[in-house]
This record gives sequence, C-alpha cells and structure tokens, in this order.
Amino acid sequence: MSDKAFYNKPFSHIYVEKDIKGIPLVEEVLNNLPSAKVILIKHYKDIFNRKKQDFRVQSKSRSLILAKNTGNLIFEGSDMCQDHGNSRFFYATSVMNCLFDCDYCFLKGMYSTGNIVLFVNLEDYEKKIVEMLKEGPMYLSVSYDTDLLALQGIADLCSFWTELAKNNEDLTIEFRTKAHVKRFDPAPNVIYSFTLSPQSVISSYEHYTASLEGRLDSVNRACEAGCNVRLCFDPVLYVKDYMKCYNDFMDEVLPKVSWDKITDVSVGAFRISKDYMKGLRSCCPMSAVTEFPYVNEGGYMKMPSDIYKGMRDLLVSRLKEVKDEGKIFCDSDGSIVRDR
Ligand code: SF4
Repeated sequence: MSDKAFYNKPFSHIYVEKDIKGIPLVEEVLNNLPSAKVILIKHYKDIFNRKKQDFRVQSKSRSLILAKNTGNLIFEGSDMCQDHGNSRFFYATSVMNCLFDCDYCFLKGMYSTGNIVLFVNLEDYEKKIVEMLKEGPMYLSVSYDTDLLALQGIADLCSFWTELAKNNEDLTIEFRTKAHVKRFDPAPNVIYSFTLSPQSVISSYEHYTASLEGRLDSVNRACEAGCNVRLCFDPVLYVKDYMKCYNDFMDEVLPKVSWDKITDVSVGAFRISKDYMKGLRSCCPMSAVTEFPYVNEGGYMKMPSDIYKGMRDLLVSRLKEVKDEGKIFCDSDGSIVRDR
C-alpha cells in the first residue's frame, strides 16, 4: 500500500486568523475546500513558525493557513534572479510555500514547514504597488515563493494580479509555473513563464508538477490565447548522461513550440545559497540532486563551471536553431539564475 494512504489529503485542515474570518477571499477558499476542518488561530506565525516541524512529512499532507500580511509585502529581486533587463525588479509574497514538491526547491532551505500561507489582504498589496509605481515602472514576479497558477482551484489570485497589471501599464508582472494551465487571460504587461525540464528530471525531482507534455500543452494554449510567453530552461541539473539527456530533450521540445510566438527564453543552472543548501540536504537527504558535490563560490553552491558551460552551450546552440540570440537570456557562469 502506498504511504499516501496514511496521510490526510492536502488541505484537510485550514487555519484561519480570527481577524480575517468572513472576508470574501477567505470565504472563497473555504467554499473551494468544503470538507476541510477549519481552525481559528490568533496569528499565522503560531502555526507556520512552530518549532520541530518536518517539511518532508508535511509536504505529503499540507495544511493551509489564511492570514493577513502585516509585514513586508514587496521585496527587491535578488542578484540570483534573472531580471531580463528590468532595472526595477521586485517580487511579491502573497503566498509562502508551494503545492508542488521539487527536491531542489529553495523554499525547503528557507522555511521549516511544508504548510502553505496565503495572505488575503490583497488591497494592501495594491496600495503598496500603486505607491511604488510613482517612482517608475516596475517588473514584479508574483510567483516567487510559490506557484500561483497551481493554486487557481483554491484561490484565484491570478485574476487579482492580472487586473492590477491591466490597470497600471507601468507594472509588468510575471507568473512562473510548472502546472498544466488550460486557461489564460492575456495582457500586454503580463508574462507567463513556463519551466521546461526533461521528463526524466520531472519524474525524479519535480514531484506533483505537470508532465513535459502537459507543460508544452500550456505553452501552446498560452501562445494561442495571445499571451506573452517565456520559456525557462532552468534550473538545468546534472543528471546521468547529461549531454545526451538534454540534447534528446531539445529534440523533443523544438518541434512542439510555435517559436515565433515565444517572447523570450532563459537558460540557467541550479544554484542556491550555502545556508539554504544545508536545509535542503536535511530535507531531501537521499536525492541525487541535493547530494551532488556542488562547488561553493562566494557563499553560493553551484555546479562545476565546466559541466554547466557544456550544458549551457548545448542548450543555447539548439535554441539558436529556432530563436534569435537576442531573445535568449543566459549568463556566463550560471550565476544569476534563481534556484527554482
Ligand atoms: S521549485 Fe517552484 S514549483 Fe517547485 S516546489 Fe519550489 S516553488 Fe514550487
């Protein structure tokens, strides 16, 4: 019998801060999860930051926490992220943690719990962004600490962010996903970014995410709908026979995408801070992707550069078969790519 039989279904329990009970987004989530047991709490940190939690076990049966974010709402993008040429690059944390469970996810190093927090005070995010826009155009990643499109059946936060972009032309937002998304809402300043990986990598390391076929279906649906579409070939991971694996992957992907409809492409290596790597290794000790002997360069754990350069050059040369070089973003040593 699968060990799934011993766990509650995801979101069998929802913790709700007392002060926000009754607001429309809370009711929307509770209606979407009618069989969940609802527990009222004083503050989300009482649950999210509890000591002695086990990310690995909790990720098999995540609880949901609905809360009001009274702390920082918008953060400056770190130098680990590709900014695609945008000087004012930020990310929003309207959700912390993800429905998916990638072995290499930096969230495992950042949080000590597998439970998910969803902040419902979206009007505060809107106020803050409108204020920040007075200082100039902004590029905002809204799926940074989560995969918002994967949560659509539970809370439609994507509509909020899309409407905000539609009402503020100086705001560009990016949704990044590994989900099989079937419906899209195109807007000139909304970018849908799809992470593509070889199916063997998805099966081994990107648990619960959509298959490569599902992701390519999403890509084509988004293109058909007239969306701005970015393809992210990152993180590139070291796997057995990596050159053959990634070359076969490109053989599969190249003919299945309408490249003239793709806005741009990014290529990047797995990379994570030394401190987060410690948490990752204790969370996924048996995973080849966490146990690989990465090299510590200035506090960041990276693939040895000769391996990464070989993989990057292969991917870039294959992508140049279908896309202008100016639309392919990558770095010289795998050093500016986010670790998801
Ligand atoms: S890497 Fe991305 S999709 Fe995977 S668990 Fe982390 S946030 Fe979710």
